[in-house]
Amino acid sequence: MTSFSVRQLKLRPGEEYRDELEVELPPFEFGGQRYVPVPEKVPAEFTVTRATTGMVFLLAFTTRLYGPCYRCLGDAVLEVPIRGREYQATNPADEELATPYLVDDRLDVSGWARDAVVLALPDKILCRADCAGLCPVCGKNLNEEPHAHEEEHGDPRWAALEALKDQL
Ligand SMILES: [Zn+2]
Ligand SMILES: [Zn+2]
Repeated sequence: MTSFSVRQLKLRPGEEYRDELEVELPPFEFGGQRYVPVPEKVPAEFTVTRATTGMVFLLAFTTRLYGPCYRCLGDAVLEVPIRGREYQATNPADEELATPYLVDDRLDVSGWARDAVVLALPDKILCRADCAGLCPVCGKNLNEEPHAHEEEHGDPRWAALEALKDQL
């Protein structure tokens, strides 16, 4: 897992440290399905800025997740761009001024990246925005075989009505 030690940093207020980190991402469970990041290590732009009262961390990367489409279960690829920001006060009086990812001067970059991806996921992961899904009658993929079913067991009363309409 990727982490970063802030102990080595000797930044004065206003100064910035910039680095490119390899961020390792785990597979994601989402809506009962599994989504795998490919590749599992992505290059991320990482910046630490010393403010007068603390440190600001920025993390930017883009990952691609592969898994099943929510509607048709076909292959779906989702590109997830991430721009995360965390703040750590030098003297954190309350927890809001402390990032949960900094423990003993080590920043858990992978944990942060994983949570940022989870927060950035859409409600549904689809193979394409207009995915037609599976046919509710026969279960075939409506993207590959667009079709509709005739009403096979129509209500006979409706049939009678139809016949009546023809006579009007
Ligand atoms: Zn689909
Ligand atoms: Zn069908």
